[in-house]
Order: sequence, then C-alpha cells, then structure tokens
Amino acid sequence: MSRTAIISEVDYEAQGLQRGFLRLFHSVHRSAYGYIPIPIVVIQNGTGPTALFISGTHGDEYEGQVALCNLARALTPEAIQGRVILLPAANLPAAVAGMRTSPLDDGNLNRLFPGDPLGGPTTQIAHYIEHELVSRADIVVDLHSGGSSLHYVPAALMMQDDDNPGRQAKLVDALKAFASPVAYVGHSQPGQGAGRTTEAAARRAGKLALGTELGGSGTVTADALRVAERGVRNILAHMGITAPETAEPGPVRILDVAGQDYFVYAPGTGLFEPLAEPGDSVVAGQPAARVHTPETPWAPAETVHFRHDGFVLCKRTPGRIMRGDCLFHLGTDLDW
Ligand code: CA
Repeated sequence: MSRTAIISEVDYEAQGLQRGFLRLFHSVHRSAYGYIPIPIVVIQNGTGPTALFISGTHGDEYEGQVALCNLARALTPEAIQGRVILLPAANLPAAVAGMRTSPLDDGNLNRLFPGDPLGGPTTQIAHYIEHELVSRADIVVDLHSGGSSLHYVPAALMMQDDDNPGRQAKLVDALKAFASPVAYVGHSQPGQGAGRTTEAAARRAGKLALGTELGGSGTVTADALRVAERGVRNILAHMGITAPETAEPGPVRILDVAGQDYFVYAPGTGLFEPLAEPGDSVVAGQPAARVHTPETPWAPAETVHFRHDGFVLCKRTPGRIMRGDCLFHLGTDLDW
C-alpha cells in the first residue's frame, strides 16, 4: 500500500516538546493547494514507553477534547520519561463542525480503519493514525463519549481479546488503572464497527487499546471531565511515563456488554418516552420505552422491553426516534 500523503510538522523521534500540525492536503475551490491542519503534540524525554491519546475521532464528543487540550498545555518533557503523543482533534473537520462525521466526505473515522492513503480525507486520517501513530505507541487511548445521540454513565472500556490472553490480561490491568468508577468490556461485532475502529488498528499491531464513553448528549459535564482527566493521568502513571499517582485508583465496577440482546432498539417511528435512566438496574422483560405518535395522539403507544438483566450504561438523547435507533444498552457485572 502507498505511503501516507499527510505531512507531519513534528518529528516523532525528537526530544522535548513539539506542537504542530499534520497537513492533510485537500484541494478545493477556495484553496487549490490548501491543507487541513490537524493539531498534534509530541512530548519526549529520554527513552521509555509511548502513550497515544486521541480525541475528536467523533467530532461531537467533547469531554476527551477538553481533557487533551488541558493536557496539551500542562504536560512538559520534565514530567515524563518516554513519549506522549496527543491527537486531540483527530477528525478535525468533524470536530470543528461539532459532528460525529466529517462534513467533507461524511466519513466516520471510527469505521474507516485501516484507511487508505489514496482515499478521501477521513480515510487518509485513519491510514495515518494506524500506520504512523499506532505503530509508534505501546498504548492507544481513544477518548469517546455518547456524542449527540447517546448519554453514558462515564466509563472506560476495553474490547475482549480471546485470541491473545497475554494482551487481554494487560488490557484488564490498564482498564482498572484508568479507574473510572464504571468500566465495561465490549465484544467485536458489526454494530460496533468490528475491524474498522482505532481499537482494531491497535489490535492488528499488537498494541494495548482502551476507549471511553464519557457522557455525551453533545455537551461536557464536570463529572465526566473529572473521570477523563483522572483516567488519562492514571494511564500515564500506569505505563511508567509519569511518577505514580499518590491517590489510590479506587474501585472499578467492570461490566460485560456481550451481544445484541444487551441493546434496545426503537421498534418504530415516533416520540421516545424512556422508562429507565442510565445507572438503573433492570431485568429482562421490564418495559424500556414507549413510542408515541403525536401526529395521531390517540394511537396506541408501542412498548419495547429490555431483553436482558443488567445495568443501564446509556440512553438515547434526542426525543424523536426511528426504527433501528439505539435507545439503551446494558452491561452485566463481571467478577474481574
Ligand atoms: Ca464515539
């Protein structure tokens, strides 16, 4: 496969602090030879592990972007041993637009790995992250949230890796080290972009990967931001890049999100009346939501039920729904 056409203003092998842009060339009517400037920060001191932190993979997920802006200003070479790479607005056009996908090509960055250096802008970003950044990292942390359409109990997550027990054990250690009060284990499946995500890129390279779902609803809460910032600091210390944190990481409730029956989808088009909230415990058969039709208010409401016992990890935010929209998903306790 061809090499990337993106030009980096930073040198990944240099010592010290570097701030600059990845130049993603995008020739359009208003700018024939122009580039999209994707900000990147590289901090290196001596030799040691590399941590890659990414946010803005989905542009409408803001908690991680705020956390990495704060880190980009605060972190100095003197504070670390090793290397930290920050990509706070990975899909910059989406981040600037406050959208999940890029307004340039409709690209969902977390569904376009392993990317293509000859593809559209978002596909080129995916290729660059997989081949130029993940390849240099020991751990990749991609900070997501529920975006505009979902709201999560702030959580860190890992994907189950049955093929590599050694990697799996290190993932569990990292998940506990992040120390979000609630965390979960996902399973690679089509609904969650199997094979096409940042996590998949890290797995292909044999690197550790954590994700987060920090909140959402297209906003930032102080609580979710605290979980994000503490988690990022904890991972730096866990990897030995910064000095150990003095505070104990605290207990982590680890949940399993095992399959499609953990998800509740809208059974029809209309108005969403939720019958549960994030953080609730529910049982199989319990009503999850009613769907109303304000256009015909006397029409019977349709009820959809939870199909599994569990803890409600997330809920849809917008009130209008169509068949196929995700309304909730659950997790069940793991004794890890
Ligand atoms: Ca996301």
